[in-house]
Amino acid sequence: MLSVHLEKGLVEVRDVPQPERREGFATIRLVLGGVCNTDLELQRGYYGFTGTPGHEFVGVVVAADTQTLVGKRVIGEINLNCGNCSWCARGPGRHCPTRTVLGIVGHPGAFQEYLTLPERNLHIVPDSISDEAAVFVEPLAAACEILDQVALTAGDEIVVLGDGKLGLLIAQMLHAHGCRVRQFGKHEAKLAISAARGIATERIDGVPLPAGAFRYVVDATGSPAGLKTAVQMTEPRGTVILKSTVHGEVPVDTAPVIVNEITLVGSRCGRFEPAIELLRNGKVDVAPLVTDRIPLSLAPEAFRTAGRQGVLKVLLTAV
Ligand SMILES: [Zn+2]
Ligand SMILES: [Zn+2]
Repeated sequence: MLSVHLEKGLVEVRDVPQPERREGFATIRLVLGGVCNTDLELQRGYYGFTGTPGHEFVGVVVAADTQTLVGKRVIGEINLNCGNCSWCARGPGRHCPTRTVLGIVGHPGAFQEYLTLPERNLHIVPDSISDEAAVFVEPLAAACEILDQVALTAGDEIVVLGDGKLGLLIAQMLHAHGCRVRQFGKHEAKLAISAARGIATERIDGVPLPAGAFRYVVDATGSPAGLKTAVQMTEPRGTVILKSTVHGEVPVDTAPVIVNEITLVGSRCGRFEPAIELLRNGKVDVAPLVTDRIPLSLAPEAFRTAGRQGVLKVLLTAV
């Protein structure tokens, strides 16, 4: 089968044997994969990664212990937790200290014709959600995680910094939740996607951003400078939600955080259920986020395209 291999910044497509299915696991035939910024960070050396990347996917189960799963269209939670430790017992296995992570840490990813995941990680995709939308459940779940961490209610004003893929998903999700979202970004075309949903957008164009003006600020810039800007924009006792995964260290001046008693909330993966619901009821529209569809066999080109300025989601098609 075709399998994408990433090593020392180089993306290759290799012909490898199909993965063996362990007990409790399902084998899934890939339908679509989504190239995420994390994949590009892995290419740049994040986690010292070598292997098959890919954690955003939709596929069809071809083999499983549970026969009723076979033939079903599925998406999968990316953290493979042990199921036995205190973290697994008290809730999200996403923090299991011995977890592996699909396509990121210790488990081969989704950018290959067949992948395996524990059955308990899988969610069956409702018929009303297209393949193109289903592949966004994982990043949209990461956006939804904000609501599990910060008590935001309808009417709350919140700033989203950044107009990349994740920033656009976060803005739509918060807007659907009833928040008054103000999104700041650099790209007219990307901000237009949010504006079309009724979200207030502003282009960062050298003009100073409002300082100390907002109770909640999400940094989804993906840039090392984003956190500093977010802290500057936050009012005393406000909250900054960190959604940028940046390779390397981010310099942070703690003085304004301490003096203004700002809460910093790190935020990563989230539950799939709210994301599935947002796509099912059409409250989040991901169609405008797809820039290109490229066959798995041309994965190096897909990675190059995904890294270009102005490009949003690149989908890998496995046919
Ligand atoms: Zn991702
Ligand atoms: Zn565990």
